Amino acid sequence: MPSTLHFPLTPSRDLTLDLWDNTLAALRNSVGPSEFKHWIKPISCAEVDECGSRIVLEVPDASHGKWLKENYLSAIRAALREISEREFAIDFKTSEPLPELVTPTTPRQANPNQPNLVARYRFDTFVGGPNSQFARTAAQAVADRPGAQYNPLFLYGGVGLGKTHLLHAIGHAVMEQRPSSRVVYVSSETFLNDLISAIRNDRMDLFRTHYRDQCDVLLIDDIQFIAGKDRTQEEFFHLFNALHGSHKQIVLTSDQVPATIPGLEERVKSRLGWGLICDVKPPGFETRVAILERKAELDGVNLPTEVAHFLADQITRNVRELEGALMRLGASSRIFGKPITLALAEELLCDLGARVTRRLTPDSILSSVCDAFHASERELRGPRRHRHVTVPRQIAMYLIRELTDASLPAIGELFGGRDHTTVINALKRIEQLRAADPGLRHRMDTLRKRLEHD
Ligand code: ADP
Ligand code: MG
Repeated sequence: MPSTLHFPLTPSRDLTLDLWDNTLAALRNSVGPSEFKHWIKPISCAEVDECGSRIVLEVPDASHGKWLKENYLSAIRAALREISEREFAIDFKTSEPLPELVTPTTPRQANPNQPNLVARYRFDTFVGGPNSQFARTAAQAVADRPGAQYNPLFLYGGVGLGKTHLLHAIGHAVMEQRPSSRVVYVSSETFLNDLISAIRNDRMDLFRTHYRDQCDVLLIDDIQFIAGKDRTQEEFFHLFNALHGSHKQIVLTSDQVPATIPGLEERVKSRLGWGLICDVKPPGFETRVAILERKAELDGVNLPTEVAHFLADQITRNVRELEGALMRLGASSRIFGKPITLALAEELLCDLGARVTRRLTPDSILSSVCDAFHASERELRGPRRHRHVTVPRQIAMYLIRELTDASLPAIGELFGGRDHTTVINALKRIEQLRAADPGLRHRMDTLRKRLEHD
């Protein structure tokens, strides 16, 4: 028995339900648990059309639908395909009309000069920072002079860091500067499916015309997924050679450098390294704040600075999550008619299952050390040199140094204006004591754990 469901041409209501239930189950495995809970679970299946090739999904509100469309469409499509072995056109509906959410079945065929690019993924909506400067500069250079330098351009980095955004931005910029250019943008998944259906229908000529002859700039997102798929790699290899040989620009993204992608053929790996390989790193605090503020401005959301700082402080690894939190916050503030406040943001993050960490400050550490070692803050900050005071004082200096980014002079200052060399000596002394006295080491480690996890 095959594990997938086969659809009759006219699905009954039960099968419609089965289809969506099974798709949900597949999605549960392919997206993270909190993403599933907040974005996928609230979707319901409104209808599957007569011949079973179009599905209408109902979403709670317009912004939810927009978010799904921009972030989860390919996951939903892949799950539907996995369950039904069919290609579905996906439409979204809400209680409000949402014309812009309708996905055309075959956008690339409908208008070959209009690649399937997300409107807001442009260079001017991409917030620069030291984390992405290299990639962004290279992307802009490629967009200005496609095929002239850095071919291929290969962008890699972790999830939700802006690779797809930059790829679309290149597409938009090329189309604006050279309207007659033919830009082909696909995920590697679509590339694979196009290839499969070309083989199945014996229309490799059309596949080659589309990707090779009628393409000036080829953008493939998440190229790592062609690894291990021999025929796709083979076809990609020849396509690459043909485009590269005629100075057509190729831009690819991936979650890692070509050399470490398992199952990628050596000859493909080597070609991917012919041009320029750039990484996109997670943004630092200031860039995270800037991204939030820019996004709030674009969405017309009134985001107080302290809330922006709070979110940027709590959500550190992934810009998509950062945006998701802001979007939720905007939505709940609108729904409940309440302004966006720190309290609302804290509540939201708790709902999202995030661990809201209290930021450790030198003062909070000092006061915990005093509690744990029965010392007084006044004494620790003061001049006394008795062992009962010096050891806790040095421990406090040590933990502050470990757990915050306070500088040595700043720590000295906190302890009654001591010199930074005194702080260095304290750190050394505590290292020695920790090595020599397991009891003390244990007490310190317990305190440290408590500070970190409270
Ligand atoms: P990736 O492809 O690296 O997984 P995406 O390009 O899909 O990530 O980015 C995830 C989301 O974060 C998108 O909505 C994107 O617009 C946004 N984003 C990421 N980096 C930035 C940035 N530097 N400025 C503005 N938005 C960003
Ligand atoms: Mg991406």
